[in-house]
Amino acid sequence: MPLETIAGVKAQGARLAMLCHACGRRRYIRNSFSDDEVLEEIAARLKCHRCGSGEVELQALVRDPATGFWPAEHG
Ligand SMILES: [Zn+2]
Repeated sequence: MPLETIAGVKAQGARLAMLCHACGRRRYIRNSFSDDEVLEEIAARLKCHRCGSGEVELQALVRDPATGFWPAEHG
């Protein structure tokens, strides 16, 4: 599977969310990255805003096709 890029996220109409594996917090973040950047590489330099852990993952989230709602933030 190819690595997901910012260009790919935009092409899907997806939003970026940061999930922290340490504390479980998930928040949408502003997509201010370059099109050729890869989600895993961006995640490697981000830290959780709440607990400061570097164990974060960037997710490309899309609206639920049935309800039209965006996945909820949590944590
Ligand atoms: Zn955290």
